[in-house]
Amino acid sequence: MKQENLSFSTDIHELYSLLKKSNHVVILTGAGFSTESGIPDFRSKGGWWKNIDPLTVATVNALEDNYDLFHEFYSFRIKALENCAPHEGHHILGRWQNKGMIAHIATQNVDELHEKGGSSSVDHLHGTILSYRCHECQSEASKIEFLKKESCSHCSGKLRPNVTLFGEALPDQAWKHSLRQIQQADLVIVIGTSLQVYPVNQLPTMTRGKTVYINKEVNDEHTFFDLVIKGSAKETLMKVDQLFEK
Ligand code: NAD
Ligand code: ZN
Repeated sequence: MKQENLSFSTDIHELYSLLKKSNHVVILTGAGFSTESGIPDFRSKGGWWKNIDPLTVATVNALEDNYDLFHEFYSFRIKALENCAPHEGHHILGRWQNKGMIAHIATQNVDELHEKGGSSSVDHLHGTILSYRCHECQSEASKIEFLKKESCSHCSGKLRPNVTLFGEALPDQAWKHSLRQIQQADLVIVIGTSLQVYPVNQLPTMTRGKTVYINKEVNDEHTFFDLVIKGSAKETLMKVDQLFEK
C-alpha cells in the first residue's frame, strides 16, 4: 500500500475509534462539505462565478449600493441550488444523528442540504439562502418575489435572502446554541472549511474535547487539531461509516 493510502487508512481508523468512545459529538461544516453536491466553495482554486470574488458581493455594501450585482449573484446561487441534492456524506451524518452518534451540526452553509440529508439538529451560522426578507423593515418575502426582483410590499425596501452578509452579526440563537454545544462536546469534527471567516473559525478552539479536521487542503495552521485528515468529506465519512457496518 502506498504511504499516502496507508496514512489515510490509519486516520480513518483513528476517527472511527474517537467516534466510538465519544459521548457528545459536534460537527462543524463549511462550503467544502457541499462541493460533492455540485455547489462550488469560495476559496478553492478555480473561479466561482464570472471571476468575481464572492467576498465582494456578499456584503451589506453590495446590497445597498450595488443591488443589481448582489441580486444577480444570489439569484444565480438560488437557481443553481435547485439542481443539487445531498450526497452520501450528508446522508451519513443524518443517519448518525438519528442513531444518537452525533449531538449537533453547526454549518456555515446556506443550502440546507444537511436537513435534506436527514439531519435534524442543525444550526445555520450564516443563515439560509432559501428564505427571504426585506432589508429595511424585515418583513418576510417569498422566493418568487426575490427572484423577480420585486420591492418589499410594505415599505418598497430591497429584498434579500436570510443569509449573514459580511459586515453583519451572526444569528444570535444559532451562534449561542452552537457555542454551548461545542463547549459541552468531547469530540468536535470540522469538515470542509478553510477556517478563514471569523467568528466561526474560533469555534474549534472553544472546546475541551478532541478536535478533528477533515479537508481537501491542509496546512501547518491545522496542526492545532488532534487529528488532521486530508481527504474529501464524502469519501472520508463513507470509509468511517463502513467500519461501523462491519
Ligand atoms: P471556503 O471556500 O473558504 O473553504 C472550503 C474548504 O473546503 C477549502 O479549504 C477546500 O479545500 C475544502 N474542500 C473543498 N471541497 C472539499 C471536499 N469535497 N471535501 C473536503 N474539503 C473540501 O468555505 P468556508 O470555509 O465555508 O467559508 C466560510 C464562509 O464564508 C462560507 O460558508 C460563507 O458563509 C462565507 N462566504 C459567504 C459568501 C456568500 O456568498 N454569502 C461568499 C463567500 C464566503
Ligand atoms: Zn420592507
